[in-house]
Amino acid sequence: MFDLLVKDGLVVTPEQVAEMDIGVVGERIAALGKPGSLPGEARRTLNAKGLAVVPGGIEPHCHLALPVPEIWTGGKPGVAAQSVEAGTRAALFGGTTTVLDFTEFGGSRLPLETIETRLAEFKGKAHTDFAFHCILSGAISPKAISQLGEAIRSGTPTFKIFTTFSRLNPPLTVKDGHLLAAMQEVTKHGGMMVIHAEDDELVEYTLDKMVAEKQTAGHLLHLVHSKLSEDIAFRKVIRLAKHAGAPVYFVHTTAKEGAVAVAEARAQGQPVYAEALHNYLVFTSENYKEPDGPKYHTYPALKLAEDRDALGQAAASGAISTIATDEYTTRKDVKLSGRTIEDVCGGHNGIETRMMVAYTELVAKRGASLQRFAEVASTNAARILGLYPRKGVIAPGSDADLALLDTGAKKKLALADLHADTDYSIWEGYETRMVPVTTVLRGKVVVEKGRLVETAKGGQFIPRKVAPEVRARPVC
Ligand SMILES: [Zn+2]
Repeated sequence: MFDLLVKDGLVVTPEQVAEMDIGVVGERIAALGKPGSLPGEARRTLNAKGLAVVPGGIEPHCHLALPVPEIWTGGKPGVAAQSVEAGTRAALFGGTTTVLDFTEFGGSRLPLETIETRLAEFKGKAHTDFAFHCILSGAISPKAISQLGEAIRSGTPTFKIFTTFSRLNPPLTVKDGHLLAAMQEVTKHGGMMVIHAEDDELVEYTLDKMVAEKQTAGHLLHLVHSKLSEDIAFRKVIRLAKHAGAPVYFVHTTAKEGAVAVAEARAQGQPVYAEALHNYLVFTSENYKEPDGPKYHTYPALKLAEDRDALGQAAASGAISTIATDEYTTRKDVKLSGRTIEDVCGGHNGIETRMMVAYTELVAKRGASLQRFAEVASTNAARILGLYPRKGVIAPGSDADLALLDTGAKKKLALADLHADTDYSIWEGYETRMVPVTTVLRGKVVVEKGRLVETAKGGQFIPRKVAPEVRARPVC
């Protein structure tokens, strides 16, 4: 007896794309088989005829309920990005069933403490399953380093480091010596480095110079957070990682130069992985010139058409392994309160549109396969960040996290279609070629026909472990 039977969908697995039935018992997938072939009754049946069925999406990079620095709010205190409840609800509507957020930014608290705090902030509030990258910042203390092994053993094996943002208070930048020390310790215990790589010296020098020359308009952000900065920073991190034997996951690759550096390292067999954000596949720094241009911004910065195209190509068939959003949703007045290269607010609402945009840009426009789509939207994040095979794959024994997608759709997105807690979207007017229809989280139908039907906020913390082969060489 199945608790749930998903019938006749076009099911995407690593081995094949075929019409299949999926039998679910409890929270897990129990069986897969040709339509009509699974034996026995089912308590509930979902008809997926005409829909693609992919593993529930995994958002590898989001920031929910994160305080917004006052430099980005025009001095207004107490502003935070949208809540855990709102962000994870929007994620479910977009077919995403697991999100990876971060522990606190900066400060002197120790890693294990920051993980506990973040757990408390998500428990009982998240509609999706969740986990956290642990942020290490500034001069990482020996005591902090000594806790990394324990963090990894207790299910948080990924550590985020910024090589820039020395201007923030407290500064986030981790300099080379500390970065190397963290890499060595994380490698020793089987973890993965997660890096925001920009060349801080170059960024800071350029920022000062442009401010002195009164060249501060926000549409020049890509000259501060430049292609050269990404090129140098990615290559330095790759070189340090090679020395340490450390696996690296680069968040938000923004330039052709970054994608090329990653591809070269992977060709040498180095375990280097890269993410692109979905807005970087569609927009460029030209969009900054629009009247509300800052709304498109996510740090580092949108670059040129050649970069947008290189990232799309690499995500469709090359060195980009995952599509993320860097989700950080504020109201429009906050997002637009800073309009210069010094104060444009980072991030935007994207957690719901991620899979739609990935499908549209990669499958509909570039001819990538449904399997490649499932990889960049779910499977690869699961593998690289240690959720696999519990998450990221439709297979017996895995969690029954499923996204049922209408891939025959052609729909111009309106703000009213989206569920984020905000009053604007950079995706208004975007023509999506896929619309998520039904979302299943660990066997429960949570979104159906445009409604959230399971409102228990049943998201769970998912402990992770990165497989040795993922840390040894690029596997996806
Ligand atoms: Zn981020």
